[in-house]
This record gives sequence, structure tokens and C-alpha cells, in this order.
Amino acid sequence: MGFGILILKLVLEPILGYSMGPWATTYKLSVLSSSDFHTSQRMSRLARYSFWALQLRKLHSSHIATLSFPSSFSTSASQSTATRPSPPPIHVGLTEYAGRGVFASRRISAGELIHTAQPIVSHPSLSSVHTVCYFCLRKLPSSARSLEASQTVSFCSTQCEDQSKFYDVEKKADWSRFNEYCRLQGLKYPLLVKRLACQVISGVVSSDVLDILQPEIPSSDRISKMKKEVALLNNTFEGSDIGSEQMAFLTEEWYAGVLARIRINAFRIELAIGSYEDLLSLAAASVEAEAAVGNAVYVLPSLYNHDCDPNVNIVWIENVDAKVKALRDIEEGEELRICYIDASMDYKARQTILYEGFGFHCNCLRCASKD
Ligand SMILES: [Zn+2]
Ligand SMILES: [Zn+2]
Repeated sequence: MGFGILILKLVLEPILGYSMGPWATTYKLSVLSSSDFHTSQRMSRLARYSFWALQLRKLHSSHIATLSFPSSFSTSASQSTATRPSPPPIHVGLTEYAGRGVFASRRISAGELIHTAQPIVSHPSLSSVHTVCYFCLRKLPSSARSLEASQTVSFCSTQCEDQSKFYDVEKKADWSRFNEYCRLQGLKYPLLVKRLACQVISGVVSSDVLDILQPEIPSSDRISKMKKEVALLNNTFEGSDIGSEQMAFLTEEWYAGVLARIRINAFRIELAIGSYEDLLSLAAASVEAEAAVGNAVYVLPSLYNHDCDPNVNIVWIENVDAKVKALRDIEEGEELRICYIDASMDYKARQTILYEGFGFHCNCLRCASKD
């Protein structure tokens, strides 16, 4: 086994929760030749590979605490955590049009749960902050909900509380101004940056954990808004007893890089109504869901490309864990694509939103027919 594959195995196995076989080789190849990342295409193959090996190694070393809890690739809730789940039937490879993508490594049946992913960072929406678990976004039973007027948040279980090391940092500072700013401006992504900053200070992740994701190119308007946000974030931490050396990473440059990645890669979490079994019978790209309970950023789900007529979608049943589900039968080797936007919109609206929000013109089969 080569050094590179070993690193990828070490990194991805804890994230995915299973032992990697040939998938590791495919992933290594895609890392070697993928060109859609922000890294320069002028980098040599070796340099590019070293870059990703380094990013992945950093991800591993800093994330093992948060990413190593068992993933489930089974629909059975009673599955023992002692048995290692089988690998998901996917591999990451190169597409002809958009750099990397996710492909089926065997035939997948409609309704099949392909894999589950836990977030790197997540945060409830401000309107849900007192009604969902502050860690996993699970709906709290009404008796356990903290009063709207109080400043406290709740966890659904001691397990979630134990994993919320960020909260030990967060509660040292007074967030009322920062939260109020986000509320008035209708901002959701700075809350994810705040959570990530607390995770970094608490030592569970490294400050460059999101570097693996593709960033958005920020507009000048965005840059001036962002300066205000980072100043507010810094002021909030400065009002606490957190040492300045622990906050040294929190520069405008760091904030901009993190926000640029969150803006493209964050998923809006809408908990689906009903059980997974109900969803299996549903062949629609958009499921009936309650209002968004929060937002989250993942690694693997961010590797899926877009299609206005997707063959897979991501659903959230009881909490922030993303479940990738097949919408129809998929052949081995076929690319798996999700729809980044509301698939029910017309051609023109989809094109506009995809270009403004994600920076590309969609030329999927549905768009080619102007449907
Ligand atoms: Zn929870
Ligand atoms: Zn399209």
C-alpha cells in the first residue's frame, strides 16, 4: 500500500465508518487529477497530490474526535455499532464536465439509502435555537424546551452534550450582540462561522478544516459586510476570558475563507415529516418538510454535482445527519447527482439561481430541453 493510500484510508475510514477497499484507489486517482478545486491547475501532479494529502491528513488529525462516531449505512435502527457497516456503493471520480463527482460502484435500487454523513459544523436557525438540540438539531420534546426568554440552549441527550465541546467556549462570551446582528440582517452563515470558531478554540477541529471544500468568489459588497461580522465576532471573544493566542487564527482572511466555503457548501436542514420508510416510497426530489431547523456543512455530500432532474437526494429524518437516498434505479458507473435548489422551479429561475448562488450555468438534460 502506498503512502498516499494509507493516508486516505486513515483519513476517510473514520469519517465513513467502514474499511476502504478499491474505493481508496479511485479516490486517490481523483485527487491526483481533479481540476475543479480552487488549487491552481498549474500545480504539478505531485504538488497537487501532496496538497490534498496534507489537507486530508489535517482533517484527520483534527477531526477524529468529531467525525469518528459510527456512520450508519443501514436503514435498520437496531443495527449493532459493533458490526462494521459495509462500504457505501459509491466512489469519487472525475466527470467529463465538472471535475470531481460521485459515481455508483454497483447497481443501486430506487429508495436505497446510499450513505449517511455527519456534519463538520452545524448550527440551528435562530428561530429554532430553543426548540431543537443545540448539537444534532433533533426536535426537543416540548417539556425539555428552554423558555424563549431564557438565554440557555438544550441538548437532546448526554451524548450530544458530551460532543459539544464548542459550547464550553461559547458560554464564556456574551453573544447577544452577535446574534442580534445576525437576526436583524437575516444572516445564517455567520452562525456557522461562530460555531466553527468555538470548535477551533476548544481544540476539536483545526482552523483549516474547511479548506478541503471549494470556495465561492466573494463580491466586494460581501467583503465589506464580512469585515463588520469578523469585528463583531472578535469583540465578542475579547469580552470573554479566552486567551488572545487561542484566537490568533481569527483574522479577516480566515473569516473570508471559511465564509466563502460555507456559502457554497452549506445545506439547509429541513427535517422530513414521517419515517424513513415513508420516504422510501417517495420518488420526489423534494420531500414534505417543516421549516428549516438549521444549516450544516459536510465533506462527502459536498462532492455531489448538481442536476435539475437528480437521481439522488439528501434527506434529514430525525437530526442533522444527512441521508443520501436513491430517487430511482441507478446503473453501475452512473454519476449520482443531487439538486442544489428547488427542482420545481422553471428553467429560467433555475438558471438564474444556480448562476448567482453557485456560479455555473446548468446544462443538465432537463435544462438542455429548456424544461
Ligand atoms: Zn442531540
Ligand atoms: Zn439543469
